[in-house]
Order: sequence, then structure tokens, then C-alpha cells
Amino acid sequence: MSNSLGLKFLRSLDFAILRRIRPMSYDLYGLVPAFYPKLFPSNVDGTPCRMPWDHSSMLEYFLLDAEEFFEKAPRSGEKVSSGIWLEPNPKTNEELPLVAKAVQLEEDQIITIQVIQEEYAERVRILRKARLELMERRKISNALNSFKKKALFDAMTKLYNRGSFMEILQEQVEKFGAYTPTMALFIIDVDNFKKVNDTLGHLVGDSVLTQVAELLKTSLRKNDYPARYGGDEFTVVAPDTNTEQSHKLAEKLRHRVQNHKFNTGDISVTISVGYTIYRLGETIQNFIRRADKALYDAKQLGRNVVCFRDPWLIDDEEVNVSA
Ligand code: GH3
Ligand code: MG
Repeated sequence: MSNSLGLKFLRSLDFAILRRIRPMSYDLYGLVPAFYPKLFPSNVDGTPCRMPWDHSSMLEYFLLDAEEFFEKAPRSGEKVSSGIWLEPNPKTNEELPLVAKAVQLEEDQIITIQVIQEEYAERVRILRKARLELMERRKISNALNSFKKKALFDAMTKLYNRGSFMEILQEQVEKFGAYTPTMALFIIDVDNFKKVNDTLGHLVGDSVLTQVAELLKTSLRKNDYPARYGGDEFTVVAPDTNTEQSHKLAEKLRHRVQNHKFNTGDISVTISVGYTIYRLGETIQNFIRRADKALYDAKQLGRNVVCFRDPWLIDDEEVNVSA
């Protein structure tokens, strides 16, 4: 070893040099630079500690890497593995910028540790800070997105929930007049849904609701808003939709559900639909109430039926039926 030219060179520099004597066991070799005993507390006998990984997790990290490197270095042909980090000095609260290298010198396996230039250390600090900030921001934005999703959507059907539905409707009504010529509201309820639950169980019931929701989603235009109003009841807010278009859509929904294979055996799944058109100046509560009355009409007429309530009939008595 003393014949090694490389080691002679290293000895003359301000490096801490550790020579690997066996796996995870190192001898301090050559000069001990001033920073080393300052950073790694000395043994009881006053000699600097020979197992620095007892004191620094970052150095331990590097040493584990170095161990791996030494194990495969002769085969891989690689000669150097390196690491760079800021070593906190618990005594002074300062951070010492260190660079460490694991070097294969012929038969010898050497680790060198050196303090690096302050300006380079500053770069490491800035990079580390930027990375931490980015990670923090990403964490916050992921949490926010998931919170927003939870707050807006019904967990089971992935449609808007009742709260979002009310907000969307209010927004659309406020836009009304300025932008929206007509707007339709549908309330949809699964017929005799209790029978599905009671005969086949709640899990099958859940699956039916999810499939109805999927049929709704795939039947609508991009700017229609389907929501789960609660239980087996759904709503659709359809801006820019007149009476005739609403009727076609309601019938389309009813047919699609009727013709869908739900895997409910002998129990058929159908829906009743009540719909109406917005009357300028009315409250959303009034609008919903009228659509609800239309749904009630559909149920009264025997289910699997579509009913319309005319917004211009003040007594709300006129009922248009199709089935
Ligand atoms: P109708 O034709 O008059 O609507 O009869 P129905 O049996 O469908 O009666 P109703 O709409 O009042 O019943 C809704 C049932 O939906 C009652 C409730 O137990 C069930 N339900 C509500 N939420 C869920 C759910 O998330 N999953 C399941 N499986 N069932 C639900
Ligand atoms: Mg029902």
C-alpha cells in the first residue's frame, strides 16, 4: 500500500482517508485534517472516531453506497463512486459541505472525505431548498385536488353530489338571461329500487346505481351536469335545452336504462323521469319543486314514465305524459 503512488498523493492533501480493511470496517489513514475530529467526536482515548457512520446518517448513507460499489467495482470496472452533502455539526449548528469518494486503487479500497468550496456548497443548498419547496408544493396541491374531488363528487357514482348540484344550478340561474336561452332540469328516480336491495342485497343495489349513473354520463352532452341527488335519485341540469330537446333526452335516458342488462335476474330496472324548463326570475327551489312534481306524476302514472311540468301554468296542474 505504501508503494501506491495514488495513496502518497492523497496523504499530502487535506483529506480524511479511510482504508477499508474488511466490509463496513475502516482504518483512518494518513493525516487527520482539522475538520474531521471537529465533526466526528473523538474516542475516549482522544483519537478521532474511526466509525463516523455512528454519528452522521448522511455519511452512513454514503458508506452503504460505497460498500456496494466496492463489492462490484472489480467486476464493473468502475473506479470511483462519489457523494456530496451538507453535514450538520451539532456543536456549532453549522453545515459543513462535504464530498466523499470511494476509490478502488489497485487492490486497495479507499474512501476520501473532503470539505468543499463554500460557493459550491451554496449551490447544493439552493438546489436542496428548491427541491424541498417543490415537493412541499406538490404535496399541498395533491391534497387540495383530492379534497376538492371529495367535496364535489359522490364517492360511489362519481357524479356531482347534492351540494355541487345546488351550486351548479344557482350558477346557471345567475347566468340565465345574459347567456342561456332555455335551461332544463331533470329529476330521475329508480323504480321500485327497494326490491333490488331487498331481494339481491345492497351490493347489487350499489352496482345498479353505479350503472345507472354511467348510463346518464354517457347519454349527455359535455356541458350537461349529472348529479346524485341522494339515494336512488339523480338530477341533470341541461343548459341551452328547450322543451322538445328535453323530452327527447328524457326518453333516451328511460330507454337506455330499460334496455340495459343489469344482471338483476328477473327484476327489471327502470327509471321515472320528471323534467321542466326554467322560468325567468324564479328561485332554484321553485324550479326543483316543479321538476319534483313532474317526477311524482311519473310515479303516479305507474313508473317507467317521463313527465313534464309546464313552467307557464301557474297552478302547475298540467301534466304531459309519455311512456
Ligand atoms: P319508487 O319506485 O317509488 O321510487 O320505489 P323505491 O323502492 O325506489 O323507493 P325509494 O326511491 O323511496 O327507495 C330508495 C331506496 O334506495 C331506499 C334506500 O334503502 C335505498 N338506497 C339509498 N341509497 C342507497 C345506496 O347508496 N345503495 C343502495 N344499495 N341502496 C340505497
Ligand atoms: Mg326509487
